[in-house]
Amino acid sequence: MDDKKNSPAFSRRHFLKTVGLGSAAATGLAAAGPFSTAGAAEQKPALAAMPRRKLGKTGVDAPVLCLGGMFDTINNQLLLKQALAWGVNYWDTAEIYGNGLSEEGYGRFFSRNPEARAGIFLTTKLVPKGGNFPERFDKCLGRLKTDHVDLFFVHGVNAFDEVEPAHLDFADKMKKAGKMRFFGFSAHNNMEDSIFAAVKKGGIDVVMITYNFRVMQTQKMQEAVAACTEAGIGLVAMKTQGFGPTRPDSEAELKMVSRFLERGFTDKQAKLKAVWENPHVASICSQMPTLTILAANVAASRDMTALAEDEIRSLAAFAEDTKGGYCAGCSSICQAAVDGAAPIGEVMRGLMYHKHYGDPELARNVLAGLSEEARANLAGLDYSRAERACPQGLAIAQLMREAGELLA
Ligand code: SF4
Repeated sequence: MDDKKNSPAFSRRHFLKTVGLGSAAATGLAAAGPFSTAGAAEQKPALAAMPRRKLGKTGVDAPVLCLGGMFDTINNQLLLKQALAWGVNYWDTAEIYGNGLSEEGYGRFFSRNPEARAGIFLTTKLVPKGGNFPERFDKCLGRLKTDHVDLFFVHGVNAFDEVEPAHLDFADKMKKAGKMRFFGFSAHNNMEDSIFAAVKKGGIDVVMITYNFRVMQTQKMQEAVAACTEAGIGLVAMKTQGFGPTRPDSEAELKMVSRFLERGFTDKQAKLKAVWENPHVASICSQMPTLTILAANVAASRDMTALAEDEIRSLAAFAEDTKGGYCAGCSSICQAAVDGAAPIGEVMRGLMYHKHYGDPELARNVLAGLSEEARANLAGLDYSRAERACPQGLAIAQLMREAGELLA
C-alpha cells in the first residue's frame, strides 16, 4: 500500500485538482452523457457546478453526491426534481426501503418525467435473504418504471461469500439482457475484508461501504481503499456522518460543531468534506429527506474549500473522544465472541437509526430483519467476551438490552 497516497496531506493536495477537473467536465446532462443511452440530447444543462469523479473502471463520471433513497419518495417528488436541477443525478434505492415504496417514488417521477431517466444513474439493491433475485429484480424494475438500472448491489453483505456465484451469474445475464449495466455489493460490516475478497475474486464493478472520518483513519481501511482503487472497482461512501448506537457526549460535540461554524461550515458539511478529501471515493451516498439537507449537502459539494490541517485533526480528535459510542462495523470480532448467536453489528446499526436519525421505524425494520433466534437472543446472551474484544469499547450488553426493548 502507498501510505502517502492515502494520507490527508496527499488527499488535500489532490482535492482541488480532482474537483476542478470534475467541475470542468460537468457541463450539463447532455454533455456529461455517461449515464444515457438515448434522449440525453434533449436534457437541459443542470450540472454546471456539481463536481464529478470517475467511478472505477466503469467509465461513468459520477456526481460526488448521490441521493440515498431511504425516505418517502412518493410524497417527495419536488425534492427529486430539485436534486436533479442541482446536479445530483445519481440516485440510490433498494427493495427493502419502505418495502418497495422508495422505488415506487422514483418510478412515479420517471412516469411523470420520462425524459429524465436517461440522465440519471440509477441504483437499486436486493438483500441476499429471500433469494430469487431474477423475480425480485424484475419487480424492482416494475416499481421503478424503467427497463434497466445502471448499477445493482447485493445489499448489506457481512462477508463477501454472501455474494454467491448465483448472484454473479445473475448479474452476467442481466447485463447481457440490458437490464443492468454494473454490479457490486454494499456493506456496513466487515467492509475491508469483503473488499479484499472481491478484489481477489473479481466480477465486482462498484462497492458501497460505510466510510467516514472515523473508519478512514485505520490502516486496514486505507489498505482496502488502495486495493479497491488498484483493481479499478468504483468506491461509493455511505454512513459518512459517523453516527453510532449512542449519542456522543454533548460537550465533545459542541466543541466540534463550534469549531466548524467559525469557519462557515456545519459539522455535517465538514464530515462530507473529510470523505471527499480522498480522491479515490467517487461519490457519497447520503440520505437527504428534506430540501434543507439536500441544499446543505449540495452546497458542501460545490464549495471547493478544503478542510485545513487543524480541522482534520479536530475531526480525528472528536472521533477519538467519542470512540466508545461508534460501532466500526468489525462484526466478525464481536460475533465470534458470542459464537455467532447475535448479529451485533446489525443491531448497532438499528440503534443508530433510532438515536441519530430519530427514526424508530427504520430501526425496527433493521431489527425485524434479524432471524427469530437472533431476536430471542438479544438481551439474554453473555456479552462480556464481546465487550472485551470490541476495539471501540462499546457497552454491548446494555445496547443489546436497549435494542430488545425497542423491538418489544
Ligand atoms: S466489535 Fe464493537 S465496533 Fe466492532 S462491530 Fe462489534 S460492537 Fe461494533
